[in-house]
Amino acid sequence: MYHSTQTVIHEALKKLNFGDQMYELLKEPLRFLEVRIPVKMDDGTVKVFTGYRSQHNDSVGPTKGGIRFHPEVNEAEVKALSIWMSLKCGITNLPFGGGKGGIICDPREMSGRELECLSRGYVRAISQIVGPCKDIPAPDVYTNSQIMAWMVDEYSHLREFDSPGFITGKPLVLGGSKGRETATAHGVAIVIEEAAKKKGINLKDARVVIQGFGNAGSYLAKFMHDAGAKVVGVSDVLGAITDPNGLDIDYLLDCRDSFGTFSSLFSNTISNKELLELDCDILVPAAISNQITEENAYDIKALIVVEAANGPTTLEATKILNDRGVFLVPDILSNAGGVTVSYFEWVQNNQSYYWTEEEVDNKLKKIMVDSFENVYRISKIHQVDMRLAAYMVGIKKLAEASCFRGWA
Ligand code: GLU
Repeated sequence: MYHSTQTVIHEALKKLNFGDQMYELLKEPLRFLEVRIPVKMDDGTVKVFTGYRSQHNDSVGPTKGGIRFHPEVNEAEVKALSIWMSLKCGITNLPFGGGKGGIICDPREMSGRELECLSRGYVRAISQIVGPCKDIPAPDVYTNSQIMAWMVDEYSHLREFDSPGFITGKPLVLGGSKGRETATAHGVAIVIEEAAKKKGINLKDARVVIQGFGNAGSYLAKFMHDAGAKVVGVSDVLGAITDPNGLDIDYLLDCRDSFGTFSSLFSNTISNKELLELDCDILVPAAISNQITEENAYDIKALIVVEAANGPTTLEATKILNDRGVFLVPDILSNAGGVTVSYFEWVQNNQSYYWTEEEVDNKLKKIMVDSFENVYRISKIHQVDMRLAAYMVGIKKLAEASCFRGWA
């Protein structure tokens, strides 16, 4: 993932006529911190967890990006994800660079008390390099508003004043924003609508397959269902279910657990691999990275692939899909709704003045539609695919700001 990102950054900078010095600056994060967090577990033992925070580039403003709790978190992934956050903020024109954090752990096997100790310990460990004007974390895979609440509480105690702008994705009563919980899915839904228009597909009755039923996948299924599309397949980490006539999304939302798992309740499941290859119009990988690869890219039947997860399609698979005429909308564009509403949350925290859901939704819609149009236009002007076009748009402001600062 990390290497592929660097490859595309190199290509994008060349297209924009920036030289090797700029690539040297932007190919890696400016700051990367590894921490070890001791947590007293419920059985009385102390377990030491490893965590990371990566800050790619702060030339346009503080860095911004989520924290993921997952057993497979690793240094290279966190670094790549922080670069992607820079690109997302560039595409949506937010005044941020990219950051990302992660802790190697399995929250599915931890109690609430253990998770709270881990969350607070992580904030203490990284406190010197984060803050409302430095680096602003948020939720990501397997973290949620409760975890953000513990983290903001810990940070405010450390600083000895209320600091809601330290983190986004908070519960509403702690200064969260209306619309943040559903923002990633909302942004993806807006992008799907725009992509469908370009391809002459009517969303009403379009067949949609969604891999993953976490924050992005589950709300997206609901938005697609409400827009009149037929959600013909969805999956969780264990398996997938399908119905050519459209699944009962409200029922699935009711019966999933807090990690988005529901498939154990069904007997006639198929694998995640089979799900990706289902006959459909729109495929949305909304789970984890490296799902569409050289192995299965030829078997994808969808006409449009919109990446809701970070990094679900490899570079090799991107090329195969593009060559086959599949319209691929890249993650850094399609899932940027999350960080966009995080930005709104931070603005509201800074002003102590809170917006209605309607205001948030309208502002999000405008940013997502404009961002989509801009990337699409660049892809046409430069005759490049949507991923390279998105990288070009995403990196441009960062490169220009770095030039002005004399960093490259
Ligand atoms: N974790 C989300 C992402 O990957 C949101 C980041 C944020 O809100 O800062 O885009």
